[in-house]
Amino acid sequence: MKRVLGLKCRECGHCQPLEAQYVCEDCFGPLEVEYDYDVIRDLVSPERIARGPATIWRYRDLLPVEGDDVVDIGGGFTPLLRSNNLARKLGLRELWIKNDSVNPSYSFKDRVVSVASTRARELGYKVLSCASTGNLACSVAAHAARAGMRACVFIPAGLEAGKILGAAIYNPTLIAVDGHYDDVNRLCSEIADNYDDWAFVNINIRPYYAEGSKTLAFEVAEQLGWRAPDHVVVPIGSGSLFSKVWKGFNELQQVGLISNGPPRMSAAQASGCAPVVNAWEAGESVVAPVKPSGIAKSLALGNPADGYYVLKLIKQSGGSAAAVTDEEIVAGIKMLAETEGIFTEAAGGVTIAVLKRLVENGTIRPDEATVAYVTGNGLKTQEAVANEVAPPIEIRASFGEFEMAWQARQVIAAR
Ligand SMILES: *Cc1c(COP(=O)(O)O)cnc(C)c1O
Ligand SMILES: [Zn+2]
Repeated sequence: MKRVLGLKCRECGHCQPLEAQYVCEDCFGPLEVEYDYDVIRDLVSPERIARGPATIWRYRDLLPVEGDDVVDIGGGFTPLLRSNNLARKLGLRELWIKNDSVNPSYSFKDRVVSVASTRARELGYKVLSCASTGNLACSVAAHAARAGMRACVFIPAGLEAGKILGAAIYNPTLIAVDGHYDDVNRLCSEIADNYDDWAFVNINIRPYYAEGSKTLAFEVAEQLGWRAPDHVVVPIGSGSLFSKVWKGFNELQQVGLISNGPPRMSAAQASGCAPVVNAWEAGESVVAPVKPSGIAKSLALGNPADGYYVLKLIKQSGGSAAAVTDEEIVAGIKMLAETEGIFTEAAGGVTIAVLKRLVENGTIRPDEATVAYVTGNGLKTQEAVANEVAPPIEIRASFGEFEMAWQARQVIAAR
């Protein structure tokens, strides 16, 4: 892997070989994949990428895998929709929705897991595992099935039915832990220490996993005709997605695929779990853990691993951060559905509600080309909106009954 140099400590810069390491042997800082951008610049071109598959693997030159035998369930290359209805409603000139709710397991996690499972298999692991808030469990179970690996996935108890079924259908060992994500994560770290042939995608092979999120920058740039937008809104769980979208846009500039720099980056959280936004608003540089509550369960990480880096990048990019209530999240889900025909889960409702807030408070300027990342599918969090939509109008197969129902509905719509 001449393109890929090693795993570099994000704190002290110490470089280690491309193995299953995730903390620095010198300072215990987190590790990140380091590339040789001179080599990659000579390799990549828009034409070469366009000839690749319609999945994340068209960007293989910028991903940390060795061979061509990738674990691919078709994740990525999702629609980027110019969203004029929503733009008009909010008062923006150019708004795009990156609709990652239509991935094979219905969330953006297919990007990170496709890379992680490929690398896990290359490194000789037999069992694919994760600590999850739900979507990751679905994606790990699906990729393990495709890769011919065993899967053991961990979720917090009390998740939405759509996420439990969305993982269970692939027949993994599915373990619901009594507690929050942070308890699940602690247990999984202990298991990872004891079972050395298990790859926990977001723990012991996290540096590879994280790289998959860069493809959300690559695709947006390619779909915009090889340019970066002016402003992006990204939901925060661990903060890994946020920091890798930033890394992705920077890499494109470094290898000459785009000529402008990365966008202003704004972070979206739910007020039921807003440790990063709390720190941002208080002007702190470290994130104090919280105990999560509320409907945005995909984002319910009380102690986000990348929180510190998110704060730095918000500042560096000239972005901002906001947290929204459960009510605003539901309104965001409905607004996106009713204006653009996209049904997102609670995490997407967070993104849309924060987008709205940031336009209203002047953070996002009306003339900025803005991309909102919608990361998961509404059918997974039906509980959030089940009581917020009109039920079907039940009639017998009679023209008269139909006309009465239709006219009654026109009266309601006119109000
Ligand atoms: C996991 C997840 C996120 C957050 O990703 P992080 O990398 O943990 O910040 C956002 N949206 C959805 C739908 C998710 O499942
Ligand atoms: Zn270090």
